[in-house]
Amino acid sequence: MKTLFKIKSLVLTFLRLFYSLLSGGEKCIICGNLSYLLPLCPECRKLFTIEEVKRCKCCGKELISETELCMECRENPVIKNVDGTFPLFSYRLWNKELLFLWKIQGIRALSYFFAGLVFKALKQLQLEYLVPVPPRPGKIRKNGWDQIDELCKILKYHYGIKVLPLLERISSTQQKKLNRDERLSTIKSAYVFSNKALLNLPQKLCIIDDVCTTGATLETCAQIIKANTSVEKVYAMTLFAVD
Ligand SMILES: [Zn+2]
Ligand SMILES: [Zn+2]
Repeated sequence: MKTLFKIKSLVLTFLRLFYSLLSGGEKCIICGNLSYLLPLCPECRKLFTIEEVKRCKCCGKELISETELCMECRENPVIKNVDGTFPLFSYRLWNKELLFLWKIQGIRALSYFFAGLVFKALKQLQLEYLVPVPPRPGKIRKNGWDQIDELCKILKYHYGIKVLPLLERISSTQQKKLNRDERLSTIKSAYVFSNKALLNLPQKLCIIDDVCTTGATLETCAQIIKANTSVEKVYAMTLFAVD
Protein backbone atom coordinates (compact mmCIF):
# COMPACT_ATOMS: atom_id res chain seq x y z
CA MET A 1 0.00 0.00 0.00
CA LYS A 2 2.71 2.40 1.08
CA THR A 3 5.01 1.52 -1.83
CA LEU A 4 2.08 1.59 -4.23
CA PHE A 5 1.21 5.14 -3.20
CA LYS A 6 4.84 6.20 -3.51
CA ILE A 7 5.21 4.65 -6.97
CA LYS A 8 1.91 6.18 -8.06
CA SER A 9 2.94 9.60 -6.82
CA LEU A 10 6.35 9.26 -8.49
CA VAL A 11 4.81 8.25 -11.81
CA LEU A 12 2.32 11.11 -11.58
CA THR A 13 5.07 13.61 -10.84
CA PHE A 14 7.06 12.29 -13.80
CA LEU A 15 4.07 12.49 -16.14
CA ARG A 16 3.27 16.00 -14.98
CA LEU A 17 6.89 17.05 -15.50
CA PHE A 18 6.92 15.49 -18.96
CA TYR A 19 3.65 17.15 -19.96
CA SER A 20 4.80 20.42 -18.47
CA LEU A 21 8.00 20.35 -20.54
CA LEU A 22 6.08 19.54 -23.72
CA SER A 23 3.60 22.34 -23.23
CA GLY A 24 6.22 24.88 -22.24
CA GLY A 25 5.65 24.75 -18.48
CA GLU A 26 2.56 24.64 -16.28
CA LYS A 27 0.50 27.77 -15.74
CA CYS A 28 -0.28 29.28 -12.35
CA ILE A 29 -3.94 28.63 -11.51
CA ILE A 30 -4.41 32.19 -10.25
CA CYS A 31 -2.53 34.51 -12.64
CA GLY A 32 -1.66 32.22 -15.56
CA ASN A 33 2.10 32.90 -15.41
CA LEU A 34 4.60 30.08 -15.72
CA SER A 35 4.68 28.05 -12.50
CA TYR A 36 6.57 24.88 -13.59
CA LEU A 37 5.29 21.92 -11.58
CA LEU A 38 3.49 23.80 -8.84
CA PRO A 39 -0.15 24.91 -9.01
CA LEU A 40 0.85 28.46 -8.05
CA CYS A 41 3.65 30.74 -9.26
CA PRO A 42 6.08 32.15 -6.63
CA GLU A 43 4.27 35.53 -6.58
CA CYS A 44 0.83 34.00 -6.00
CA ARG A 45 2.19 31.58 -3.43
CA LYS A 46 3.01 34.65 -1.33
CA LEU A 47 -0.72 35.38 -1.14
CA PHE A 48 -1.18 32.13 0.72
CA THR A 49 1.43 32.17 3.43
CA ILE A 50 -0.15 31.32 6.76
CA GLU A 51 -1.64 34.42 8.34
CA GLU A 52 -0.28 35.64 11.64
CA VAL A 53 -3.59 36.76 13.10
CA LYS A 54 -4.91 36.56 16.64
CA ARG A 55 -7.33 33.68 16.90
CA CYS A 56 -9.77 32.43 19.53
CA LYS A 57 -8.06 29.83 21.73
CA CYS A 58 -11.15 27.66 21.55
CA CYS A 59 -12.73 27.81 18.08
CA GLY A 60 -9.91 29.37 16.05
CA LYS A 61 -11.97 32.25 14.67
CA GLU A 62 -10.17 35.53 14.11
CA LEU A 63 -10.39 37.90 17.07
CA ILE A 64 -11.21 41.53 16.43
CA SER A 65 -11.17 43.34 19.75
CA GLU A 66 -11.50 40.39 22.12
CA THR A 67 -8.60 38.71 23.88
CA GLU A 68 -8.08 34.92 24.02
CA LEU A 69 -11.72 33.86 23.52
CA CYS A 70 -14.26 35.14 21.00
CA MET A 71 -17.68 36.41 22.12
CA GLU A 72 -19.39 33.23 21.04
CA CYS A 73 -17.05 30.93 22.96
CA ARG A 74 -17.65 33.08 26.04
CA GLU A 75 -21.42 33.30 25.82
CA ASN A 76 -22.72 30.34 23.84
CA PRO A 77 -19.85 27.94 23.21
CA VAL A 78 -20.23 25.18 20.63
CA ILE A 79 -16.77 23.84 21.38
CA LYS A 80 -16.15 22.09 24.68
CA ASN A 81 -14.10 18.99 23.85
CA VAL A 82 -11.66 20.45 21.35
CA ASP A 83 -8.55 21.65 23.15
CA GLY A 84 -7.62 24.17 20.46
CA THR A 85 -8.63 24.86 16.87
CA PHE A 86 -6.03 25.95 14.33
CA PRO A 87 -7.23 27.11 10.92
CA LEU A 88 -4.58 27.94 8.34
CA PHE A 89 -6.56 30.63 6.52
CA SER A 90 -9.66 32.75 6.88
CA TYR A 91 -12.27 31.86 4.29
CA ARG A 92 -12.27 35.03 2.20
CA LEU A 93 -10.80 36.74 -0.88
CA TRP A 94 -8.22 34.63 -2.68
CA ASN A 95 -8.48 31.89 -0.10
CA LYS A 96 -12.06 31.24 -1.13
CA GLU A 97 -10.94 30.85 -4.74
CA LEU A 98 -8.28 28.39 -3.70
CA LEU A 99 -10.77 26.12 -1.94
CA PHE A 100 -13.10 26.30 -4.95
CA LEU A 101 -10.31 25.29 -7.33
CA TRP A 102 -9.35 22.38 -5.11
CA LYS A 103 -12.74 20.98 -4.13
CA ILE A 104 -15.03 21.91 -7.00
CA GLN A 105 -12.70 22.25 -9.98
CA GLY A 106 -10.69 19.30 -8.72
CA ILE A 107 -7.18 20.75 -9.15
CA ARG A 108 -5.49 17.99 -7.21
CA ALA A 109 -2.00 19.45 -7.44
CA LEU A 110 -3.23 21.79 -4.69
CA SER A 111 -3.36 18.82 -2.30
CA TYR A 112 0.44 18.87 -2.17
CA PHE A 113 0.44 22.59 -1.57
CA PHE A 114 -2.01 22.26 1.35
CA ALA A 115 -0.25 19.20 2.76
CA GLY A 116 3.01 21.15 2.98
CA LEU A 117 1.31 23.92 4.93
CA VAL A 118 -0.50 21.51 7.25
CA PHE A 119 2.76 19.70 7.95
CA LYS A 120 4.49 22.96 8.86
CA ALA A 121 1.66 23.91 11.21
CA LEU A 122 1.54 20.44 12.84
CA LYS A 123 5.27 20.55 13.44
CA GLN A 124 5.01 23.93 15.11
CA LEU A 125 2.34 22.56 17.43
CA GLN A 126 4.31 19.33 17.98
CA LEU A 127 1.42 17.19 16.79
CA GLU A 128 2.15 13.87 15.07
CA TYR A 129 -1.21 12.12 14.89
CA LEU A 130 -4.04 13.08 12.56
CA VAL A 131 -7.65 11.94 12.59
CA PRO A 132 -9.45 12.69 9.31
CA VAL A 133 -13.05 13.89 9.38
CA PRO A 134 -14.72 11.35 7.07
CA PRO A 135 -16.82 12.51 4.10
CA ARG A 136 -20.54 12.05 3.65
CA PRO A 137 -21.43 8.61 2.26
CA GLY A 138 -21.98 9.06 -1.47
CA LYS A 139 -19.74 12.11 -1.71
CA ILE A 140 -16.79 10.18 -3.11
CA ARG A 141 -18.98 8.52 -5.68
CA LYS A 142 -20.25 11.92 -6.79
CA ASN A 143 -16.98 13.84 -6.85
CA GLY A 144 -14.55 11.01 -7.48
CA TRP A 145 -12.20 11.76 -4.62
CA ASP A 146 -12.11 12.80 -0.97
CA GLN A 147 -9.90 15.83 -0.38
CA ILE A 148 -9.22 15.15 3.29
CA ASP A 149 -8.32 11.53 2.60
CA GLU A 150 -5.89 12.60 -0.11
CA LEU A 151 -4.38 15.24 2.16
CA CYS A 152 -3.89 12.62 4.88
CA LYS A 153 -2.28 10.19 2.43
CA ILE A 154 0.27 12.79 1.36
CA LEU A 155 0.97 13.72 4.98
CA LYS A 156 1.40 10.05 5.83
CA TYR A 157 3.61 8.90 2.98
CA HIS A 158 5.53 12.06 2.20
CA TYR A 159 5.83 13.62 5.64
CA GLY A 160 5.60 10.67 8.05
CA ILE A 161 2.53 11.91 9.94
CA LYS A 162 0.53 9.10 11.57
CA VAL A 163 -3.07 8.93 10.40
CA LEU A 164 -5.70 7.30 12.62
CA PRO A 165 -9.10 6.64 11.03
CA LEU A 166 -11.05 6.79 14.28
CA LEU A 167 -14.30 8.12 12.86
CA GLU A 168 -17.00 7.03 10.49
CA ARG A 169 -19.77 9.11 9.00
CA ILE A 170 -23.25 7.65 8.97
CA SER A 171 -25.69 10.44 8.14
CA SER A 172 -25.68 11.93 4.69
CA THR A 173 -27.37 15.26 5.38
CA GLN A 174 -25.47 18.02 3.65
CA GLN A 175 -24.43 20.52 6.31
CA LYS A 176 -24.25 23.57 4.11
CA LYS A 177 -27.96 23.36 3.32
CA LEU A 178 -28.85 23.75 7.00
CA ASN A 179 -28.94 26.76 9.28
CA ARG A 180 -26.88 27.01 12.44
CA ASP A 181 -29.34 25.35 14.83
CA GLU A 182 -30.16 22.56 12.39
CA ARG A 183 -26.48 21.93 11.89
CA LEU A 184 -25.85 21.63 15.59
CA SER A 185 -28.62 19.11 16.12
CA THR A 186 -28.04 16.88 13.07
CA ILE A 187 -24.28 16.77 13.33
CA LYS A 188 -24.46 15.07 16.72
CA SER A 189 -25.72 11.86 15.16
CA ALA A 190 -23.67 12.04 11.97
CA TYR A 191 -20.44 10.44 13.20
CA VAL A 192 -19.60 7.25 15.09
CA PHE A 193 -16.46 5.79 16.57
CA SER A 194 -14.74 3.29 14.32
CA ASN A 195 -13.25 0.32 16.10
CA LYS A 196 -11.22 -0.50 13.03
CA ALA A 197 -8.61 1.86 14.44
CA LEU A 198 -5.51 0.86 16.31
CA LEU A 199 -5.24 0.17 20.00
CA ASN A 200 -2.13 2.09 20.94
CA LEU A 201 -3.40 5.61 20.86
CA PRO A 202 -1.30 8.68 21.67
CA GLN A 203 -2.15 11.16 24.44
CA LYS A 204 -2.78 13.97 22.00
CA LEU A 205 -3.98 14.05 18.45
CA CYS A 206 -5.39 16.41 15.89
CA ILE A 207 -8.59 16.20 13.87
CA ILE A 208 -8.31 17.52 10.33
CA ASP A 209 -11.04 19.01 8.12
CA ASP A 210 -11.18 21.48 5.26
CA VAL A 211 -13.48 24.19 6.59
CA CYS A 212 -14.65 25.15 10.07
CA THR A 213 -18.01 26.97 10.05
CA THR A 214 -19.73 26.60 13.41
CA GLY A 215 -17.24 24.18 14.93
CA ALA A 216 -20.04 21.62 15.40
CA THR A 217 -18.36 18.92 13.30
CA LEU A 218 -15.04 19.27 15.11
CA GLU A 219 -16.78 19.30 18.49
CA THR A 220 -18.77 16.14 17.71
CA CYS A 221 -15.66 14.35 16.49
CA ALA A 222 -13.65 15.37 19.56
CA GLN A 223 -16.46 14.29 21.85
CA ILE A 224 -16.63 10.84 20.23
CA ILE A 225 -12.87 10.37 20.45
CA LYS A 226 -12.75 11.39 24.11
CA ALA A 227 -15.74 9.19 25.00
CA ASN A 228 -14.23 6.09 23.34
CA THR A 229 -10.52 6.36 24.01
CA SER A 230 -8.04 7.43 26.66
CA VAL A 231 -6.79 10.29 24.48
CA GLU A 232 -6.41 13.39 26.67
CA LYS A 233 -6.00 16.25 24.26
CA VAL A 234 -7.87 16.56 20.99
CA TYR A 235 -6.88 19.49 18.79
CA ALA A 236 -8.33 20.44 15.42
CA MET A 237 -6.79 21.85 12.29
CA THR A 238 -8.72 23.13 9.31
CA LEU A 239 -7.53 24.70 6.08
CA PHE A 240 -10.10 27.48 6.38
CA ALA A 241 -12.20 29.18 9.03
CA VAL A 242 -15.38 31.04 8.18
CA ASP A 243 -15.11 34.06 10.48
ZN1 LIG B 1 0.48 33.32 -10.19
ZN1 LIG C 1 -14.20 31.12 19.75
